[in-house]
Amino acid sequence: MMHYPAPLQNVIEELKKLPGVGQRTAERLAFHLLNQPAAEVESLREALRALKERITLCRECCNFADVDGDGGSEGPGPRCAICRDPGRDRSVICVVSHPQELWKIEKSGGYQGLYHVLGGLISPLRDVHPEDLQIESLMRRLHRGSIREVILALDPTVEGEHTSLYLARQIKPLGVVITRIAQGVPIGRDLEFTDEATLSRALQGRVRVVL
Ligand SMILES: [Zn+2]
Repeated sequence: MMHYPAPLQNVIEELKKLPGVGQRTAERLAFHLLNQPAAEVESLREALRALKERITLCRECCNFADVDGDGGSEGPGPRCAICRDPGRDRSVICVVSHPQELWKIEKSGGYQGLYHVLGGLISPLRDVHPEDLQIESLMRRLHRGSIREVILALDPTVEGEHTSLYLARQIKPLGVVITRIAQGVPIGRDLEFTDEATLSRALQGRVRVVL
């Protein structure tokens, strides 16, 4: 069997670790890179380096933020573009499990409030507990008192339901209106796989959580 030169084989092996990339795609991409001018490959390398060096969590909402972003006057650490945007409605927080869902809601348009990214869902089976998630930072934001509504936009799965209920119980004593996205999102389906139009409708048709 013929073997590729080691540097080429190494790139193929690295690319195959990416989601959705099999042997053939990895080979095609590796040969493509090999045929590019050095400057093109360098710019890809630089972009990948910056991805890990310059992306951190927003100190307000835990969304991804650029470390070069403006920290504002209230403390250390950058804030994300959404938290910095003076045009957002600062009285509503939409709670999501991951930044991917936040971007999906943004792309769907129609939502002008702020977000809070939990970083996962409570799952005793997977050993993920409330203290492992960004729940304390959410509660700190709510305790500041300027939020009138919290929208729970978590997966309609057992873990999502469990997390929504936990959060609703924590938030209720603060007197903040708690709503959740409802219609349109298929039960048991991760929001990651829900299309933007459906998510937008689900957000519009949110219902109040009564405990
Ligand atoms: Zn933010």
